[in-house]
Amino acid sequence: MRGGGKKNESNVEPLRATRPCAECGRPSVREHYPFCSERCRNVDLNRWLSGSYAIPVADDESKADDGDER
Ligand SMILES: [Zn+2]
Repeated sequence: MRGGGKKNESNVEPLRATRPCAECGRPSVREHYPFCSERCRNVDLNRWLSGSYAIPVADDESKADDGDER
């Protein structure tokens, strides 16, 4: 054989422009695109859900005052 051009030698996958994570701004990974991790993904999801349902955050503020005073 002749004309042996080494083509396709660098068979790297085309890197798409990595968007910064929508949550923390880190480079997103492919597994969790467009987020950097599953965590940020969940955060965004939760925010989205909470935004839709407007869930009041019960921040352990219920001191259970159900008449337990002596
Ligand atoms: Zn992130």
